[in-house]
Amino acid sequence: MSLRDLPSVERLLQSEAVAELLAAYGRPLTLEAIRGQLEAARDAIREGESPPKEDVLIEAARETLEAWLASTLQPVINATGVIIHTNLGRAPLSKAARHAMIEVATSYSTLEYNLERGVRGKREDHIDDLLTRLTGSEAAFVVNNNAAAVLLALTSLARRKEVIVSRSQLIEIGGGFRIPEIMKQSGAKLVEVGTTNRTHLHDYEAAIHERTGLILRAHHSNFKIIGFTTEPTLAELVDLGKRFDIPVLDDLGSGALLDTAQFGLGHEPMVQESLQAGASLVAFSGDKLLGGPQAGILIGKKSIVDKLRRHPLARAVRPDKLCLAALAATLTHYLKDEAVQQIPIWQMIAAPLEQLRSRSETWVERLGQGEVISGHSTVGGGSLPEETLPTSLLALSVRYPNAFTSHLRRADPPVIARIEDDRVMLDPRTVLMEQEEDLLRALGTILSKTR
Ligand SMILES: *Cc1c(COP(=O)(O)O)cnc(C)c1O
Repeated sequence: MSLRDLPSVERLLQSEAVAELLAAYGRPLTLEAIRGQLEAARDAIREGESPPKEDVLIEAARETLEAWLASTLQPVINATGVIIHTNLGRAPLSKAARHAMIEVATSYSTLEYNLERGVRGKREDHIDDLLTRLTGSEAAFVVNNNAAAVLLALTSLARRKEVIVSRSQLIEIGGGFRIPEIMKQSGAKLVEVGTTNRTHLHDYEAAIHERTGLILRAHHSNFKIIGFTTEPTLAELVDLGKRFDIPVLDDLGSGALLDTAQFGLGHEPMVQESLQAGASLVAFSGDKLLGGPQAGILIGKKSIVDKLRRHPLARAVRPDKLCLAALAATLTHYLKDEAVQQIPIWQMIAAPLEQLRSRSETWVERLGQGEVISGHSTVGGGSLPEETLPTSLLALSVRYPNAFTSHLRRADPPVIARIEDDRVMLDPRTVLMEQEEDLLRALGTILSKTR
């Protein structure tokens, strides 16, 4: 065996198989992959191994190229039953929202152009009217996400001033969003009042003085305090704020526009309720219970919203055109009173139990194994902690559940399932109809291999 037995780069480049790689991956990357394989082969020969055959070497280069270019951000099938799954990208978009994104991505658009007058327009104009019509607020402003919305509000309204927050609302949600830290970042000074379980209106009142810039109420989101608890209502905070001329910011987190109670869930605080209670400003996410793209939505009093709009930070947290297109389409569903029919997360929340049972029964029939059992889905996305929706699960008793779910994660597209009582559970509620065939194919293949 000698190094001379190895083909040269030049010779490999003549081969048909490499021509395919060149066409698929371009010259620089293909060369890099082939040189890497030749290098590895030389090392192997020096260790006394025999040189790889030419086709083996080229195949290895192809695998390297595939691995280099494989996108790690890819669609998955969510069979967990957690509807707004933050790790799995929160809300899938409606057909109209997807279409709107593609249209705006494909050509030039009126992003900042006023067609009627032929002059520069504002990107906000596409959304603000929809939001004010939908919620009845005086004004609206959209930013990149709700964390940015809260940061912008705190910075523009309370920098170098004090912000009063109840100790029961100093929350941390996933991904490192913590009220005390966002406060520090904004340059506002946090003034904590009350206790973890009980905060009274007079606690807020006692903390007010000339440096107070804002009263903040933050939705508990992903936890629940039960037992001997109290917090003033938003309306009471608004009254207090009015007496001292201090604005009230309500960070709603999920921000439902529809009442979750009509679907057998607890009542998630609604955007409309915060406005009715008189909040100066309400902040919520675009991709939680709204069911749209990642965005932070701010609505409220015009004088306050205008302050935010004019702050230099607003430019740094502005949404892109794809987000605006998808958000406008999503809001339109609410205006047309078709949100439950058109927005995936509301379809999932509203899915009747009989329909879920019929789906899981079909899965068992098609797979020829497994069992249909009753279970629970959750809403997720920092809303309705401890609340569940009754569902019908496919339960698979397999010898090695952990190995099985790891096979599922390597399917194409990957399937995310959960294990309970040593069984693999799949919830039809969060499996999109158009992904059902892929799911059954993956399950069929893995079941036949791991028998
Ligand atoms: C989710 C949440 C946020 C952050 O919203 P993002 O859209 O994820 O940035 C802020 N505040 C509360 C109360 C939340 O629940």
